[in-house]
Amino acid sequence: MLTATCHCGAVNVEVPRRPRTLTDCNCSLCRRYGVLWSYYKAGDVKVRAKRGATDEYIWGHKTQRFVRCKTCGCVMTWAKLSPRFGSRAGVNARNFEAGVIDGIRVRRLDGADTWKYLD
Ligand SMILES: [Zn+2]
Repeated sequence: MLTATCHCGAVNVEVPRRPRTLTDCNCSLCRRYGVLWSYYKAGDVKVRAKRGATDEYIWGHKTQRFVRCKTCGCVMTWAKLSPRFGSRAGVNARNFEAGVIDGIRVRRLDGADTWKYLD
């Protein structure tokens, strides 16, 4: 098991294993967040936080919500708003302990336009 933690420690996200690849997406939101996404089955991602410790952002087609720590602002995960929109969830790999993601291949996703990987 691996835990991603926000800066202040109020929000933890548990996943079963180290990611195999990371995704650097250039869509209008991800490029602003500056996140590196790791993907898991939605049921494998456990967000541990006190009630009210997180905020979320939902935009565009309203298929997913982006969850951040209400105190320190770190972007933690995205999750689909309904299983009919897909079974994956994203975890911001930048919140794993330093060094955990060293050496993992980073793939560039053209989320701004074609939704294809650029490599
Ligand atoms: Zn925090």
